[in-house]
Amino acid sequence: MSATTTALGFAISPSTSPVAAARREEILADPGFGNFFTDHMATATWTAGAGWHDDAVVPYAPLVLDPSAAVLHYAQEVFEGLKAYRHADGSVWAFRPEANARRLARSARRLALPELPEEAFLASIEQLVRADEAWVPSGGESSLYLRPFMIATEAFLGVRAAREVRYLVIASPAGSYFAGGLKPVSIWLSQDYTRAALGGTGSAKCGGNYAASLLPQQQAAEHGCDQVCFVDAAERRWVEELGGMNIYFVHDDGSIVTPALSGSILEGITRASLLQLAADAGRAVEERRVSVEEWREGVASGRITEVFACGTAAVITPVGRLVSPDGELVHGTGGAGPVTEELRRTLLDVQYGRREDTHGWMRRLV
Ligand SMILES: *Cc1c(COP(=O)(O)O)cnc(C)c1O
Repeated sequence: MSATTTALGFAISPSTSPVAAARREEILADPGFGNFFTDHMATATWTAGAGWHDDAVVPYAPLVLDPSAAVLHYAQEVFEGLKAYRHADGSVWAFRPEANARRLARSARRLALPELPEEAFLASIEQLVRADEAWVPSGGESSLYLRPFMIATEAFLGVRAAREVRYLVIASPAGSYFAGGLKPVSIWLSQDYTRAALGGTGSAKCGGNYAASLLPQQQAAEHGCDQVCFVDAAERRWVEELGGMNIYFVHDDGSIVTPALSGSILEGITRASLLQLAADAGRAVEERRVSVEEWREGVASGRITEVFACGTAAVITPVGRLVSPDGELVHGTGGAGPVTEELRRTLLDVQYGRREDTHGWMRRLV
């Protein structure tokens, strides 16, 4: 289908009205998450006839979409999330961006969108970060969060895969997720709703999965919880993941367990990286099914000592409590456990260039 013949270089057309340096510095001093956007964005267009073309880094601006654009009606959309990290010497790096490129291609396939070649994905983030280098914060656990996404722009209300698609990357400076130290989250076990079913879109990173998670997330908030945890759709018994993060259990022997990829779990790059880093450190690691009963019994017996969630945005978040209509479980002391802290530190040290990158995961952008 894809008629891409020429490599996409994402040449930069610089903005003539960038944010003033003083205002940018003010934003970078306390960006929070997802509030502010840089001066540029990367874009490319795909049509069934011409493949990928019109690639460029252009000034950040609203999109003009026909009200009948397919994405607005049938949610034909996929996205990615990764970060650019500034190292102590000023250089800027991405963590395993090839894995994001491959996952975007897998997600696109599931949503009947065209695949963007891996080199084009890498060029888009390299060029955007080059154009907006001044927006990459330094210090603490700050970063420039990158959000590549693909939408069906064809103006057509019939139900079929769109013949016109747009790929974009926007960038948003992000502060330390845990400015005041690691704060455990509480999670609500969703029993009324599931996130994804086998054969559905759970293993694709698409906006529709997030839309479906918002109501259970509201229920979590009504029960005083920060996040929601989903179980499998068929038996409502097997732990899957949170709305946007994978989950890990730490056992009293120091081993770590995460639910095996079931077909409806999103394959997190943080999840995969922690399996490797924990194994490197000599820990036993396991991917297998974990039931809610095992979780309850494990906490009661002391076998499960820590629980944490992981994803690019928050890296590793300790889970202090699990709340459900059947009661409440408190993990360990309810704070961040030592294994959670150690794994988090190890991963951050690789990402920020403070620890040897033995797996070749870091890719220099600037
Ligand atoms: C993005 C995402 C994750 C985490 O993936 P990372 O690659 O580690 O950022 C986990 N679950 C869901 C549903 C996601 O969308």
